[in-house]
Amino acid sequence: MSILVVGSIAFDTIATPSGRADNVLGGSGTYFALAASYFTNVRVVAVVGDDFTAEHESVLTRRGVDTRGIERAKGKTFRWGGQYLENLNEAKTDFTELNVFEKFQPRIPQEFMDSQFLFLGNIHPSLQAAVRLEMNSVKLTGGDTMNFWIQGTRKELTETLKLVNILLINDTEAKMLAGDSSLPRAARKVLVLGPQALVIKHGEYGATIFFRESAFGVGSHPFRAPALPMEEVKDPTGAGDSFAGGFMGYIASQGEINREVIKRALFYGGVMGSFAVELFGTERLQNLTRADIDARFQLFRELTHLG
Ligand code: AMP
Repeated sequence: MSILVVGSIAFDTIATPSGRADNVLGGSGTYFALAASYFTNVRVVAVVGDDFTAEHESVLTRRGVDTRGIERAKGKTFRWGGQYLENLNEAKTDFTELNVFEKFQPRIPQEFMDSQFLFLGNIHPSLQAAVRLEMNSVKLTGGDTMNFWIQGTRKELTETLKLVNILLINDTEAKMLAGDSSLPRAARKVLVLGPQALVIKHGEYGATIFFRESAFGVGSHPFRAPALPMEEVKDPTGAGDSFAGGFMGYIASQGEINREVIKRALFYGGVMGSFAVELFGTERLQNLTRADIDARFQLFRELTHLG
């Protein structure tokens, strides 16, 4: 089954305690697409500038990602700069240069219209909603957002949340969105806004999924998957989007969507997030094999299995 992702393609400048990288390929759409490409067909809708070369594009096409939805606009590609101090779970943004992203109006190629899975990466909520409303074959929509939109465009975001089946955000964003410092209470309040399930990502501590009563199965009790304890995290950038790519990619690769599939998907999200942070930028996500992914899934099994 095919997933369409709409998100950012960026050149990132990143500093972490392990070193730095300048103008490396990144963006929510890129990380998501690479991670999901190990599970299913991926189609990208995004915008880039004239500085995005054939070599950059080949990072995606080598993984079989369909790039016909990448629009080339006049100007520079979106750029983001950030750094991580001791707390690797929190990026401090140094700069955000929207460039061609500022006037982005997602255009979905006709060939992408039959996509059954959709991921609305972190972009303006009105653009997210417009994409969802254009797609008539979608069975499951995943979505992301961030503090910038929660604070700046709450009204639009509230409308978009009604169109999202599974929202994936981090602890801080969930608390901010709900206006509540208790995570389970925040989750309950977010679920009232529209999504049937809410994945809250806890960075190096894993992720928890909260369900609305009877959504995708029985009851409403949450489920938590840990993250893999890693001795060295070189660059946390893109971990969240790679998590989302593994999570949605795995779901799209399965015949049906139920609680068991969704719980396993939470582990595949953790697997892809753990690879993403091993090297700077998208480097690690470019050259994985299915055997690498299966071996790491096994590590997650051992981490959590009681025997
Ligand atoms: P993550 O670490 O998974 O939350 O995502 C990091 C990626 O998000 C980086 O590659 C950035 O280029 C991208 N990014 C940062 N800020 C924004 C923004 N305002 N809109 C879209 N993408 C962004």
